[in-house]
Amino acid sequence: MFDLQRITRDNIKKLVAYSSARDEFSGNAEVYLDANENSLGSPLIKWYNRYPDPHQNAVKNALSMVKGIKQEHIFLGNGSDECIDLLYRCFCNPGKDNVIICPPTYGMYQVSANINDIELRIAPLLDDYQLNLAHIETLIDDHTKLIWLCSPNNPTGNSLKRSDIEMVLNNFNGLVVIDEAYINFAKQKTFIQELGDYPNLVVLQTFSKAWGLAALRLGMAFASKEIISILNKTKPPYNINQATQELALKALEEVGQVNDMIKEIVDMRDALAKVLWEVPTVKKVYPSDANFLLVKIEDAHNLYEFLLTKGIVVRDRSNVKLCDDCLRITIGTEKENTALIDAIEDWINKE
Ligand SMILES: *Cc1c(COP(=O)(O)O)cnc(C)c1O
Repeated sequence: MFDLQRITRDNIKKLVAYSSARDEFSGNAEVYLDANENSLGSPLIKWYNRYPDPHQNAVKNALSMVKGIKQEHIFLGNGSDECIDLLYRCFCNPGKDNVIICPPTYGMYQVSANINDIELRIAPLLDDYQLNLAHIETLIDDHTKLIWLCSPNNPTGNSLKRSDIEMVLNNFNGLVVIDEAYINFAKQKTFIQELGDYPNLVVLQTFSKAWGLAALRLGMAFASKEIISILNKTKPPYNINQATQELALKALEEVGQVNDMIKEIVDMRDALAKVLWEVPTVKKVYPSDANFLLVKIEDAHNLYEFLLTKGIVVRDRSNVKLCDDCLRITIGTEKENTALIDAIEDWINKE
């Protein structure tokens, strides 16, 4: 049985959240002399002398409509990276607890564990890049607090099998974090509608990929309202700045435009995959549910270097276990994708 009390760190259970000036007075006043802001104004936008809403109510309200989920289930972080770090800080005791990751996967789960002095237990993906459930089971003990699942996974591009994820959710009594950074490009549906069924579920999404707003640094966590309140009381009070809140609110009015971009990227991804399969030195183009392709190709590292001389940067994953000879290629514009294919052809003809 999942017990949130059991897995929450004692210091966090006892924590009294910082109470900001805006928490202590939240009505409307004529004169604000409570937060030591610069009352004369700002050199930029007039109201930027004021602290932003620590609860990001306007953004969460808009998000709640777009996602069809109640505001109390939404947490916003300074990128998903802040959500990842907070999950460690709220639920994992340094030097004592452990978490499970399934590489090859996103590097921040490991870096953030190292920063927080949390032991990593490793259950590599199988050859088909799916979960090794039997291995995961052998790694779990009383100190296992989190299992990180990334679906669609980075850098492999595939979605994890839904039934496998459900198996972990149903049988693990710590938190199961599903990182859905690439969900908008996937055929699979999100897990955020299943929060009612799984009190141990945390879903991460981000504005950095499909929304086209990596520069804003805005990540989302969706979970039970109890988990969300723990994250809220632990976060820095003003973790989402005013500019980000205003711009995210504007972006949330443009769902139509974002959906058009997603469709275009998915079409270009599938077209690029077809062309890459025809390249003689390409051994495999892995099926992708994301906005990138993982490509196994002869002499990957040297091709990577050659592409750089042509001004094209891809991600060299050829040294990553289970990704040997692989490059990870983000879908570009039509023109950029053509430039990439032309450069690969130049490389082959050069030999
Ligand atoms: C890109 C990416 C993110 C996004 O992180 P942000 O901090 O929100 O930019 C999260 N998870 C995975 C797996 C990613 O590839």
